Amino acid sequence: MSTLVDTFARPLHDLRISVTDRCNFRCTYCMPKEVFGKQYQFLPQEQLLSFDEIEQLTRAFVALGVRKVRLTGGEPLMRKDLESLIARLAAVPGVQDIALTTNGSFPLERVHSLKAAGLKRMTVSLDALDDETFKRMNDVDFPVERVLEWIAESARAGFAPVKVNMVVKRGVNEHAILPMARYFRQHGHILRLIEYMDVGHSNGWRMDDVLTARQMVDIIQAELPLEPLEANYRGEVAERYRYADGSGEIGIIASVSQPFCGDCSRARISADGRLFTCLFAVGGADLRGLLRRGADNAALQAAIAAVWQKRTDRYSELRSANTAALPKVEMSYIGG
Ligand code: SAM
Ligand code: SF4
Ligand code: SF4
Repeated sequence: MSTLVDTFARPLHDLRISVTDRCNFRCTYCMPKEVFGKQYQFLPQEQLLSFDEIEQLTRAFVALGVRKVRLTGGEPLMRKDLESLIARLAAVPGVQDIALTTNGSFPLERVHSLKAAGLKRMTVSLDALDDETFKRMNDVDFPVERVLEWIAESARAGFAPVKVNMVVKRGVNEHAILPMARYFRQHGHILRLIEYMDVGHSNGWRMDDVLTARQMVDIIQAELPLEPLEANYRGEVAERYRYADGSGEIGIIASVSQPFCGDCSRARISADGRLFTCLFAVGGADLRGLLRRGADNAALQAAIAAVWQKRTDRYSELRSANTAALPKVEMSYIGG
């Protein structure tokens, strides 16, 4: 295993690959319609990394210590034949884990083709259990029931427990926290409550819109007592709790109120092949250019290592009223 570390001695373990910047939802906190409307210029096909290129990059990252790969976007299932990419990545020696983050809005057969291709873990995003709130947040009138079916099918296909990501926006869906906690506890899945973050510059983020991890825990504890759990591994982003009655666990991702940059071991590749070492970065190194100029595995490794060794990112620890207004790339492009 490589000993590549950045300037804060953080290793490179996880790779998040955005396979498309497009999405069939318009979640107000991620791709608000006013910005991502009909006029919005998404990346043309030729600018996206091909599956060959993604595989080549993955091989280089694995040689540098990456063991976990997550496919995200945009909505990764919008990318044609994602299953064949998964099968290729699953065959790369050293890749131990392939996970997908999806909005769970696709035909249920896909759950099984993803499993057959070698996908190991499924994370599904869902922000409320009532249609009124969920539709207001996804902004494309998509019903809750279809996502619940996707989650149930995922469990049947062998992905249990499914992780369910819920972004909490104060005054918008905090009332949905308890119904979500009750439902996923009962069904044996792991709900992860996510503090609303100031990613990109189009969601109009304000600190006042953030419900903090502490406040979320208090809401749940009022009905379902919780006990903190140890992290599974260094760099785990969710604080874990178990229900005191032993009926399962829940995670809270407190990126705003309790940043975890100190252990951040993730690299991200945007859909057009730029390497970002922080979710809040302004620019990324152009790996696609290197690939298309014929770089071999050693050259790719050298380029990635050079970026990682210089890495100083700790945006969330430095976040302030001023930083929220800084230019940043959009999450749908860089991959959540
Ligand atoms: N489309 C897929 C989905 O929604 O699961 C994958 C991409 S999405 C950008 C990845 C995750 O980022 C989702 O769980 C989403 O809820 C989360 N996310 C997006 N915008 C966010 C924000 N402003 N704050 C916190 N989480 C956010
Ligand atoms: Fe699409 Fe996911 Fe962003 Fe929602 S959070 S707009 S589903 S990419
Ligand atoms: Fe990692 Fe950047 Fe998030 Fe800090 S702000 S945890 S460095 S992605």
